[in-house]
Amino acid sequence: MECIFCKIANNEIPSEKIYEDEKVIAFNDLDPQAPVHVLIIPKEHIKSIDEITDKNSDIIGKIFIIAAKIAKEKSLDNGYRIVNNCGKDGGQTVEHLHFHLLGGRKMNWPAG
Ligand code: AMP
Ligand code: ZN
Repeated sequence: MECIFCKIANNEIPSEKIYEDEKVIAFNDLDPQAPVHVLIIPKEHIKSIDEITDKNSDIIGKIFIIAAKIAKEKSLDNGYRIVNNCGKDGGQTVEHLHFHLLGGRKMNWPAG
């Protein structure tokens, strides 16, 4: 499988992992856009939100619980942003579902 996030999940390429359980991992983004920039992904290869169904949707709730936990650990007490880019116009560059957890600075809105 040529998917870079599957390789990170399988420890085939290195990452700064900050959380791992049976179904989910979180690691620091290589090109951080904020003082805290963590990617949270399912270990299972799901291409994007477009592939979420009644059968696999549990993982989304799990990811958000983990995101809030990481935000607390990172002391993002003033708030944070969780982003999912879906498809070309959404700005998705890695075709393995992932959520960005961004914090440590004031975010702009609307996002560009
Ligand atoms: P997106 O543009 O939403 O698909 O986000 C992909 C993110 O993955 C970008 O923020 C990249 O900086 C990040 N990224 C790409 N390769 C790696 C890697 N090997 N380790 C950590 N983050 C990565
Ligand atoms: Zn993958």
